[in-house]
Amino acid sequence: MCGIFGVYPHQDSSRLAYLGLYALQHRGEESAGIITHDSKKIHLHKALGLVSDVFDERIIRTLRGELAVGHVRYSTTGSSNIKNTQPFYVKSKIGEIAIAHNGNLTNTVSLRRELENKGALFQTTMDSEIVAHLLAHSQNKDQKETVIWALSQLEGAYSLVLMLDNLLIGARDSFGWRPLCLGKLDNAYILASETCALDLIQAKYLRDIQPGEIVFIHKERIESVTPFKKRTPAFCIFEYIYFSRPDSNIFGYNVYSVRKNLGRNLAKEFPVEADLVMPIPDSGNSAALGFAEASGLAFETGFIRNHYIGRTFIQPSQFIRDFRVKIKLNPIREVLKDKRICIVEDSIVRGTTSKSRVRTLREAGAKEVHMRISCPPLRFPCFFGIDFPTKRELVASKHDIAWIRDFIGADSLEYLSLEGMLNSMPLPQENFCTACFTGKYPINHACHLSKDILEK
Ligand code: SF4
Repeated sequence: MCGIFGVYPHQDSSRLAYLGLYALQHRGEESAGIITHDSKKIHLHKALGLVSDVFDERIIRTLRGELAVGHVRYSTTGSSNIKNTQPFYVKSKIGEIAIAHNGNLTNTVSLRRELENKGALFQTTMDSEIVAHLLAHSQNKDQKETVIWALSQLEGAYSLVLMLDNLLIGARDSFGWRPLCLGKLDNAYILASETCALDLIQAKYLRDIQPGEIVFIHKERIESVTPFKKRTPAFCIFEYIYFSRPDSNIFGYNVYSVRKNLGRNLAKEFPVEADLVMPIPDSGNSAALGFAEASGLAFETGFIRNHYIGRTFIQPSQFIRDFRVKIKLNPIREVLKDKRICIVEDSIVRGTTSKSRVRTLREAGAKEVHMRISCPPLRFPCFFGIDFPTKRELVASKHDIAWIRDFIGADSLEYLSLEGMLNSMPLPQENFCTACFTGKYPINHACHLSKDILEK
């Protein structure tokens, strides 16, 4: 999970990048960075923290130039530290290179070993740095050929925004795991992970960058190439279920509408006798609305989300039970007291958070708590850019639904079926990666891949 953004040419490029990253904040809260090029010099600012913490007006003003690349990070390879923030920047024999990457490369270890044997000195433990070294090691003289050669070496998931001197580049791997769209504002082209970033800066959505496509954005023109073998797409279905913002259109369709479909199908598959339906805000909102609509049950807001929590440094571990859950979501007792509740959640990962939520609802007076999940059980790890825990930590990889129901303390627990999930999608099922549910990975992957693979 990361958010990426690029703009060129625009005199307010850093401000646009800032706003774009602001809209993409949900894709990564660990660090934020913007690099700009003013045709003579590079200006870079990045730090750990939220976009609003990392940048202020004074910093934005120092980021001069018409070309900007931005990144918000949620680490999936390499731990969360200042060295591993992006955009990753390096000055090389082919010019100034900056990289913003969303996704996970699956041939990270072999590529890094190969490059180190050729004398490459790595500064970080991110797979994204490999792209910079490949660009620098290319024997091609032509910028376009250099980029095509470097990207042809990569396996796995990448949506990329690159700066190569005065050139802005957008690229998506041939399977298209992660989203990337193209927009326009005045004469400038915009690249962004999701369309919500275009909406905020009032840019016009042009189209998605296609799987396997590379776009080269020059000051006066845009070029597109599709040099790689065409594949059946493997769009990450979890982007629709949880990651992307509901107001975004990804893979060509609106996320909110898809989530409502998931909720409707869930209600058809697993109806429940309850007094009300409520979501786990915010990610469960749209599916819960769909569930309420299809089941005819009242939709209520039983939890209020505190939007201002940021990072909590004080952990009163013993004397306030479930502190982390409570600070985020507070129940409304008047809504819940003596009610049979159907709560709609987007997914269960370890099960510990769901357990705390069920307990909170019971403490608030709920008579019955029925949980409905808008996707099938998560049983397998992701190697394509989502920081799921290992199989060992995924509760559904070791236990059946009845065990999980008892563990979280719900009166009933049901998950949407694989078929129900796929039927909720606007695209044919063969266009999606569903590996975390089925274990059927679209490509072979190094099964020892883990977040700290380059730190071991
Ligand atoms: S394994 Fe799951 S989370 Fe990872 S890309 Fe595939 S669908 Fe998305």
